[in-house]
Amino acid sequence: MAAPALTTQPVPGLPYGRPLAAAAHDSRPAAPALVPSGLGLDSSAVRLAMVSRLAAQGLSEPAVLQALAAVERHRFVDSALVNQAYEDTSLPIGLGQTISKPSVVGRMLELLIQGRSRPLGRVLEIGTGCGYQSALLARLAREVYSLERLRALHEKARDKLRPLRLHNVHLILGDGMLGYPKGAPYDAILSAAGGDSIPQAWLDQLAPGGRLVAPAALASGRQSLVVIDKTDQGCVQTVLEAVHFVPLKSGLA
Ligand code: SAH
Repeated sequence: MAAPALTTQPVPGLPYGRPLAAAAHDSRPAAPALVPSGLGLDSSAVRLAMVSRLAAQGLSEPAVLQALAAVERHRFVDSALVNQAYEDTSLPIGLGQTISKPSVVGRMLELLIQGRSRPLGRVLEIGTGCGYQSALLARLAREVYSLERLRALHEKARDKLRPLRLHNVHLILGDGMLGYPKGAPYDAILSAAGGDSIPQAWLDQLAPGGRLVAPAALASGRQSLVVIDKTDQGCVQTVLEAVHFVPLKSGLA
């Protein structure tokens, strides 16, 4: 596989030249998988097999692999889709939204922590969705603030996360385009929804030395994964591979 194209300014610590998920990511629902995963009573073997496949594709950050191995993705999807929970596929979570495929989630989490000398402190997540990625972030960061604009999904995620007792995850019903100033500054900001630009509020709320990872359709009009590092010299933007995330929308619903 080729290295990510479309790079603007290289940033130390990014995986240039590594064959990490260089193919275009697609977070839209795929056709139903024909191979049942056979979750049975214990899903850990199926989950570990998923993690092995992701590692074989290039995902290498141990903390991310451990989190993917620990969090039970099947608990976050509707019961009819449980057999596809450990396929590398995006799945519908209701209201036209999707849970991203595990390789995309892993890729974004890896970008968040790569090159950091210290563990993540406060992290802002835009688009709680079903709460799966929030549960992963809870294992990688000290505090997670996760915003969702759709009340029904916010409440569903709250119900899914409650039994996990993740005391460092704060779910907020709110418009993520405004960020969440109360928790700022953030060591990392991660968006699971993409607009035409990166909202200024996110840049303002990013801590010095912090990193933002989000899909956005910048100048080319094509949605790509964008990484922004807040350095002493200002914000440095890197555009990585093409992706397909649900739209970033303003206001609550
Ligand atoms: N990471 C999520 C993926 C959810 S899909 C998961 O693990 O399930 C993206 C989510 O972003 C959707 O739920 C959508 O409603 C939400 N979203 C879109 N625009 C938003 C905004 N301005 N503020 C908060 N959430 C937003």
